Amino acid sequence: MGSDALLTLGGAGRFAPTPTGHLHLGNARTALLAWLSARQLGLRNILRVEDLDPRAIPDGCLEGQYRDLDWLGLVYDECPRIGGPAGPYRQSERFALYDEVLAQLDSMGLLYPCWCSRREIQLATRAPHASDEGPVYPGTCRPSHPQPLGDLNQLPVKRDRRPALRLNARAAMERLGQSEVVFTDLIAGPQRYDMVSSLGDFVVRRVDGVASYQVACSCDDVSMGCSLVLRGADLLPSTARQWLLLRLLELPIPRYAHTGLVMNHDGQRLAKRDGAIALGQLRDRGVSASTVVAYLAELSGLPATSNLDDLTNAFKMSTLSAGDVCLRDDLDT
Ligand code: GLU
Repeated sequence: MGSDALLTLGGAGRFAPTPTGHLHLGNARTALLAWLSARQLGLRNILRVEDLDPRAIPDGCLEGQYRDLDWLGLVYDECPRIGGPAGPYRQSERFALYDEVLAQLDSMGLLYPCWCSRREIQLATRAPHASDEGPVYPGTCRPSHPQPLGDLNQLPVKRDRRPALRLNARAAMERLGQSEVVFTDLIAGPQRYDMVSSLGDFVVRRVDGVASYQVACSCDDVSMGCSLVLRGADLLPSTARQWLLLRLLELPIPRYAHTGLVMNHDGQRLAKRDGAIALGQLRDRGVSASTVVAYLAELSGLPATSNLDDLTNAFKMSTLSAGDVCLRDDLDT
């Protein structure tokens, strides 16, 4: 696998879970809608495992997620278990590709090392701007004259710390000749992000030397030929960062579709630790997969059926809502 892998854009949709917890109804709804949308558009369905942190994966978690997706009847054309032309399909096996991409971004003079701890960033942040990734980086380690760093494996250790690498957002936007990231989401509509003031210099390589989610996910989407990325609306700010990375790398940008999230009865977003709605627990309670699929379909404005062919035929992106949906009480055997 080389950087050529980044140049193929075929037709695929994907579901890309991080195996750090059990799949819950919110994850299952995203998986179902991503699968149906790809199928309805005649795209291949890819399952990619986002395990950038293999040590953070609890024993049996990945197998549990496979079991849940199998149970729902979501069969993938390409996935870690059967492989495929764009494999490997686990991010932990794709680090060489991410390193190439980081070197390419560095050659543009857009990266700089950052030795700040989370706490130092918090203390140095006077303005109350916070993004989904925490406070907008105050720029403590940002050089005044951006230039390529060269060998990214030989960066100095300071105060006993290895550096993370950040993307210089201002320099990146200047390179593109744009002041804002602008794209149209297939569900959430037109989006605008002032990269510098609202998202800032984000991390592209973590302190442990591994590419960040933003780099791995965006490059994988392109190298796996994903022309459609359907995922939860909590990832919209990430899409702005990923859009920027792909534009800098002059790679094709997928169409993005962000659905509202599933909220629990208290109006709170479902969390992985919210065991009550883990698919495995529903299964243990005797709830059938067809009940779950029909329930999730109805929750998404589709017919209340578990027949995936019927749901594929009925699927319309335009009927999906960017607003959050609330669980109902009637999920029973
Ligand atoms: N791996 C991410 C998660 O489980 C999702 C990434 C994506 O769909 O882009 O939250």
